[in-house]
Amino acid sequence: MRSHQAAPAGVPDFLHPPDLELAGACLACGGDLSVRLRDGAARGVCRGCGGWSTPLVEREPDGVRVHLLAGGVA
Ligand SMILES: [Zn+2]
Repeated sequence: MRSHQAAPAGVPDFLHPPDLELAGACLACGGDLSVRLRDGAARGVCRGCGGWSTPLVEREPDGVRVHLLAGGVA
C-alpha cells in the first residue's frame, strides 16, 4: 500500500505533499480513491471505476482536511 511519498531533500514539504489514499471514498462505486495534492489543489481518481473527483483540501496545523464534493458525473 502506498500512502506517503517522501519529499526530495531540501524542498519544503508543502511544495511536494504526499499522495493520499482514501479507502472507500469513491462517490460512484465506493472504491479506493487515490488523491494527488499539488499546490494546494487535489485531483482524485478512483482505482475501482476510474472516475475522477476533485476533493477540496484544507491545510491545518496538524495535517490536511479533505472534503469530497458530491456531483460531477451526470
Ligand atoms: Zn469508483
